[in-house]
Order: sequence, then C-alpha cells, then structure tokens
Amino acid sequence: MPTTKYNFKKIEQKWQKKWEESKIFKAKEVKKKKFYCLEMYPYPSGMGLHIGHAFNEIIGDIFARMKRMQGFNVLYPMGYDSFGLPAETAAIKAKMHPKKFTEDAMKNFIRQQKALGLSYDWSRMLYSHDPQYYKWNQFFFLKFLEKGLAYRKKAPVNWCPKCQTVLANEQVHSGKCWRHPDTEVEVKHLEQWFIKTTKYSEELLEKIDSLNWPIRIKMMQRNWIGKSYGTEIFFDIEGEKWPVFTTRPDTIFGVTFMVISAHHPRLFELVKKKQKEQVKSFLKRVKSVSEKELEEVGKEGVFTGSYAINPINGEKIPVYAGNFVLADYGSGMVMAVPAHDQRDFEFARKYRLPIKIVIQSRERKASVREAYDGSGTLINSGSFNGISTEEAKEHITKALEFKKQGRKTVNYKFRDWLVSRQRYWGTPIPVIYCDSCGIVPVPEKDLPVKLPEKVKFGKGNPLAGNKKFVNVRCPKCREKARRETDTMDTFFDSSWYYLRYCDNKNSKKPFDLKKIDYWMPVDFYTGGAEHANMHLIYARFFTKALRDDLRFLKFDEPFLRLFNQGMVHGEDGRKMSKSFGNVVDPINVSEKYGADTLRIFLVSTASPDTDFSWNSSGLEGVHKFIRKIVDYFEKTKFGKSGPNARTESKLNKTIKEVTSYIENLQYNLAAIRIRELFSYLERGADRRTAEIFLKLLSPFCPHITEELWHKFGNKNFLSLEKWPEAEEKKINEQFEKEERAIDEIISDVSNVVNIIMEKGRKVSKLYIYALPNETEIYTGNLDMIKKRTNLDAKVYSVADKGKYDPENKSWKVKPGKPGIYLE
Ligand SMILES: [Zn+2]
Ligand SMILES: [Zn+2]
Repeated sequence: MPTTKYNFKKIEQKWQKKWEESKIFKAKEVKKKKFYCLEMYPYPSGMGLHIGHAFNEIIGDIFARMKRMQGFNVLYPMGYDSFGLPAETAAIKAKMHPKKFTEDAMKNFIRQQKALGLSYDWSRMLYSHDPQYYKWNQFFFLKFLEKGLAYRKKAPVNWCPKCQTVLANEQVHSGKCWRHPDTEVEVKHLEQWFIKTTKYSEELLEKIDSLNWPIRIKMMQRNWIGKSYGTEIFFDIEGEKWPVFTTRPDTIFGVTFMVISAHHPRLFELVKKKQKEQVKSFLKRVKSVSEKELEEVGKEGVFTGSYAINPINGEKIPVYAGNFVLADYGSGMVMAVPAHDQRDFEFARKYRLPIKIVIQSRERKASVREAYDGSGTLINSGSFNGISTEEAKEHITKALEFKKQGRKTVNYKFRDWLVSRQRYWGTPIPVIYCDSCGIVPVPEKDLPVKLPEKVKFGKGNPLAGNKKFVNVRCPKCREKARRETDTMDTFFDSSWYYLRYCDNKNSKKPFDLKKIDYWMPVDFYTGGAEHANMHLIYARFFTKALRDDLRFLKFDEPFLRLFNQGMVHGEDGRKMSKSFGNVVDPINVSEKYGADTLRIFLVSTASPDTDFSWNSSGLEGVHKFIRKIVDYFEKTKFGKSGPNARTESKLNKTIKEVTSYIENLQYNLAAIRIRELFSYLERGADRRTAEIFLKLLSPFCPHITEELWHKFGNKNFLSLEKWPEAEEKKINEQFEKEERAIDEIISDVSNVVNIIMEKGRKVSKLYIYALPNETEIYTGNLDMIKKRTNLDAKVYSVADKGKYDPENKSWKVKPGKPGIYLE
C-alpha cells in the first residue's frame, strides 16, 4: 500500500494559484499556429456545477492542454449563458432578482471550475446579461432588420402555457415544450419577430458534409432542414390561385379532396357561411400537433364549403380543414390522393370521400383496401396513361408549367426562427412602435436598450407593466410612442458568443475583424447532443448572415470539429436525479479525492462519447493509482543514464499511441497506455522516461504532475512544456511482442492462482514451458515475472528432456501460447 501523505488539496490550490498569478493560460494574438478550443458556455444554474458540466469541461481541458503543449497558441475561454427563463423562474421562486441570483450562481461556477484545474483564459470571460454584451445582440438585430433578415409577422405560433411565452419550432419536441415535457404546446395567432434563417437553408444543408461532426448530429440537422424536390401546383379556389407543394405530381389525377391546415391564418377566407359553426367547433377540439406526432394522431377534419379546381382536368374537389397538415409546411395546404397516401386514405375512409386509383403497381393489382405509395404505371390519368411514375413526374410538371399552373421546386421543412419572447430576463428587442411612423428601429447610438432592473414580477411579462420602459418618444417624429416589450430568445445570445471571446472587451464594435481572422473558426467544440437542432443551427446561420449580409466574416462555418460527450448516470445506472438519490456532485468528489482523481476517472471509465454509470470503486481505484504515482516518485532514485533500448521502444510507442488517442478523443485508451507505462517505470527507470511519463499524464492530472515535475528541480511550468514526440525508429516491434507475451502469461498465472487460492490451497512455484525459439522471452524476463507474480519461477524449453513437468503441460504448447504449471 502507498504510504505517502499526498495532500492533494494543498497541491491543487498551490498550482491553481501559481497558474493564475503567472497568467500562463492567457491567449494573445501572436505569430504562431492558433488553436481555438471551446465548450458550450453553460447556463449558471443555482445548483452549481453538475457532473455533466464537469465531464464536458474536463474533456475540453485535456484537449486544450495537449494542444498548448504541442506548441499551438491556444484560445480556451469560458463564459455564461446567463439570460433566460430558468434563471427568471428560479429567481422568482427564491424571491430574488434574476440579476442577483444569476451573478451569485456565476461566482459559484467560477470558483468550482477553478477548483477543477480547468486552464481557461479568465480574462476573456463574458456573460449574456452584461449590457456590454447584449448591446451587440441589439446591434445585430438592427442590422438584420436593415437587411430584411428580421421581420415581424402574424402567424400561428407555439405557446407554452407554463413558460408563458411563445417558442421557436426547434423548441417544440413532439408537441411538448422543450423545457416542460409534460406540457402541450398551444397554437396562438400572434404577431411576432422572426429571423429569416431559411435564407440559408440550402447552404446550411450542403455544408454539413464538410464538418467533422458526429454523424448523428449531421443526420439530425439534415432531417430538420428536410429538403425535398417536387412540384408546386396552383389550384384555383374561389377565384384565387393557391400553391400546393407535392413530391408526387404523378398522382394528380387521383386527387379527390384538398386539406388546409386547421391553424392556417387564412382558413376562414375559405369557410362558407353554412359551415362556419361546424368549423369553429372543430377548431376547439383539435390540439396542435408537431410534425412527429402527425403520424400518431387520429386524422380529423371538417368541410369548409369551398371547392378547388384540379388544374390538370378541371375537376371540382372539396376543400377540408384538417388537423394533420402543418400551417407552415409549404403553403399550409395539401392535395389529398387517398389511393396513394396512407394518411389521406384514412381520412377518406373516415369521411366517405372517393378513392381513385391512378398508379398501377407492377407487382400486384390495384386495390381500394389500402393505399399504395410506390411506383408503377399511370392509369385513369387521361393522356398520361401507360407511362411510368418517374416519367409522369416530369411530364405532368411540364404540362402544368405550360398552363402556368405549376412549377418545379424544392421545399424545406426548415422554418424561420421565431425570436421574440414574452419574458423579462433577456435582451430587449431594440424597436419602438409609433402610431405615425410604424416600426422604428432604436438608433444605434442609443444602444444598449437596457433591461430595467426595477420591475414587478407576477403575471406575464414585467416589462409590459413598466411605464418608464414602455413610454418613449418616437426617434423619428418625437411623438409619444411605445417600446417593444418582448425580449430575445436566449439562443440569440449563444449564436455568436464564440466570436466575442476573440475580443471580449471591445466597446466600439462587437469584435475586431483582425482578431476574428486570427482565431476563428473554432477548431474543437464540445457540448451536449441536445443542441443539434437549436444552438448548432442558429450559430451556423449567424455565421452565414454575418458573412454575406453584414460582411463581417470571411469563413463559412463556426465549428470545424464537434464532440458530444456521453451522459454520466448514477451508480444504479439510472439518470441522475434528486428523487432517485443518486446524484453525484463533482465538487464533493474533488474535495474528497482531489480534482486530478475526478478528472482522470471521468474520462477513463468509458469512451467519453458514450454514457456510463458512476462507479465508486472505480473512483477509489483511480485515486489509489495517483497515490501510487506520488509514492513512487518520492521513493525512487532515478538513474542519470538514458533508457535502454527496450524502455526506449516502450516509451516511444506509448507517446505515439497516447497522442493519437487524445487527438481522437479516446481518452480511456490513452489512460490505459499511461498506466502501462507506469507499471514499466515501476520496474526501474531513468529520469528522462519518468519526465515524459509526467508530460503524458499532465493533461489528465495537471496538478500532481506539475508538483512532481518541480520536485525534479525543473523551473518551468509543466503545463507549458513541449509535448513529447515519438521517434518511430526506436519502436521495436519485437520488444513489443515480448512485452505482450509477458503481460499475457502474468495475467494467465494470476487467474489460475486466484482459482487455486479460492480452493484454500497455496501456490509458491511457477513452471513455464515455451517453444525453443520463444524460451528466451521468458528467461530474459524471469526477474520481472518473479516480481510481478510473487512466485518462484522457472522456465523450460519444451525440448528440454530433463524438465520438471508432472502433468505434461508442455504437450499442448503452441507458438505464442506457453504452458504453465503451478504448485
Ligand atoms: Zn414551457
Ligand atoms: Zn413617429
């Protein structure tokens, strides 16, 4: 057992203080290859840093530390996503002002993050509720307004009754609020602010291929943007042309009714007097459904009283209002082909609408008992009969184009981003409403529009009740006017914070373009996969808008490489939750075992991108390992002579593998190699090997390695030392092979020894039988085998006639598989 009095608390505090005082992690724009390493900035919750934060940040820190040692000029900042509803709700609950609540929480976060030894450049810290930060949110909003990228529109929007605000499409998950999975989102018709994210639909989709991101996130974004090729067909309804998007123009002869979304803002223009009451009572019954749920809900509808004219054959077809059409997909109206679409089929059956087969499958006969949505040959389609569905798509589209009743088009599921929120704790939208001038942007010189601190919390948005805030003069005509009281979605804050880190103190501009050119894009970004269709899309949009519309940026994508960490579950394998009593507090753990133990434990239990369960005995094991290292370094007198060839080979192989494992985020495998190198050291090593071992371990355990490094008499910070580089020619595969052979035999022996001991018998002697050409591997390492197995060992060649082999173990010996006998 290790005997060292390893006072990790003292050591960790000492080095954290020294790092801070000497400002060694401060990043400057110098002529050197840069590396921008970033974690998604956290919302400073009142609960403090949780294990997910610690995991995320330690993953980033290990990477940043290696890059720094590799000679990169590393930018590694931290800040806080401090605006938002959770802070507002928590503050009201605690009877505190959100500002005070958030700032206390931030202080706590900073203290905790420092205690974990994270190597941030704290001079670049930022937080969203800083008027010097959100001033630039307002600046960008005004620029977007000027460029037509921000607009106000009355639309059916998602409303969460619990949040008491509207939500973006991205914040509605399966019809429920993203923050309140138990709360159904309602549809309201409101005038709201939108950002025209769809301007970049195509580029957002296309550039996904170029990103070094997890495949799953890339797929989620592709699906979210949802591009499809098809035809826009104009149906005459009550003298007006209504565009309808379809991917199946070949089925146009089978259209027997039309369906308009129950939430369509223009629905009532189509409702005839006689139908009004019926439609109204239908609307009361239908709930809003998200896209995902469209498949699951019962299809319901009601006749509007209007008819559409099918442009291909002049047929008169009824228009229904239905709950299974999204108001904002295409034009919010679809053509229904019940014979060839399951959803339409169910609807037609329910409301006894005709089903007309127009595609003949090549395999089976057409039937009206189920929908057939495959390909085939056209029937009942006038002059298009007999041609294939693929040809028909082209021909019918052309025929419609000729009549000016249609055109080839692409459609995206992706929608513009609804950014206004009816809440207090966010960036005020810098707009004034004037009766004579309309929507008037706040002049740039008047920014920031500060969020008033003195407000009354209660029902609704406290800004709306703040007369001092609301009542203003119109900047244009100086008449009495009214200030916008909606605030911005907090995702607006996180859409560009990574740019501000490059120049966080600039009071004249959001950032200096030269500094942006130097640092951006972010080379390595870590965070949770839950942001796939929110933050990660908005930030990509911002980059493109700032590039083309504002001409601020020269690059296309903000985050070149993305990594999603796994989830840390409780010891019982369940999600950590207060109610299960299985929550692990990272700060408690690091106070008890040290930050170095927590750090290496979190990344070596499993591959960092997979979920894993907390394991106390694993943690104890890791802690013992660190104590053992300290103990070893204190007791060992290192020789001045360089490493022998065998050690050189091991060392270089370890350097090579650890470097590439860290680069590939396989930290758990890197940790295994580091442990192996340590057991090699334990068998006796020179100082150079020991120092390289400390370097390889330092990104994982920065405090203890820094301490041991200085105990060697080194004056420089290990954190800034040069990362070792492997010398390939010193790696001897023969040594490596022998090494593996010894490791294998030792593990085999200890397994057998354990079995024998369990039976209550004792073992003291080990006999090894090897093939003649392999004997030397074992004789050459006999001392080590003896030491590691604690047995008196003897090696025989199977060819040795005088060998001691009472059980004939030498008979079954194969190449690479020696025989063993124990007694
Ligand atoms: Zn909600
Ligand atoms: Zn005015």
